Amino acid sequence: MRTGLLLLLVLAQTVAAQEQALTREEIYARAAITEVWEPVPPVVTPGAGNAPPSDALVLFDGSSLDAWRNVDGGAAGWVVADGAATVKAGTGNIYTRQSFGSVQLHIEWRAPAEVASESQGRGNSGVFFMDRYEVQVLDSFANPTYPNGQAASVYKQHIPLVNASRGPGEWQSYDIVFMAPEFGANGRVVRPATLTVFHNGVLVQNNVAVQGPTEFIGKPQYEAHGKAPIRLQDHSNPVSFRNIWLREL
Ligand code: MG
Repeated sequence: MRTGLLLLLVLAQTVAAQEQALTREEIYARAAITEVWEPVPPVVTPGAGNAPPSDALVLFDGSSLDAWRNVDGGAAGWVVADGAATVKAGTGNIYTRQSFGSVQLHIEWRAPAEVASESQGRGNSGVFFMDRYEVQVLDSFANPTYPNGQAASVYKQHIPLVNASRGPGEWQSYDIVFMAPEFGANGRVVRPATLTVFHNGVLVQNNVAVQGPTEFIGKPQYEAHGKAPIRLQDHSNPVSFRNIWLREL
């Protein structure tokens, strides 16, 4: 036993001595083995403040809703004024003209300053990825409702980790990573969609698995589909949006 320990000690000292004996060049040569030099990531210039980064696709810069359409393909009927697009009740949901799969999305929204209702009737809208999967927009500032339907919930599927809401009439932001679901040859989902959401910079959904389209009634169930528009919801409340951009992933 004692001999074994002694042998180990001698061995350790020998290894240490060998390490010390390495020249500076030899140390750097060994370190270089685990350096990866390719591929070099493309350069992206970050935006100043909340401005989009250089490689973003801008969906709304405050001037027009040209990148959006109504359900029939015509011009989006929401009101554009003061750098914001506001839901005009009854004109319906609006859809990006382009279809998308996995994206990083930045969007800013504002619930009406005047509190006119409660629960789901207060500042309700929504951001639907692929026309199916909703991250809820709601005035959840001191506004009790079912938590799996409050602001930043994945509607009726995932309660946000915390309530990071700002008050009515204040601008708020979502930064979202949406990964599209993947379907096998038989149409079955082989990888569910996932969502990561920051609400006003606070992590509220951490890579959660989406169970299927976010339904008002009933259980979600996946059906195979391809790329699809992003949809913003007309829930009859005059919710405003601004500074909408994304990066395809
Ligand atoms: Mg909604």
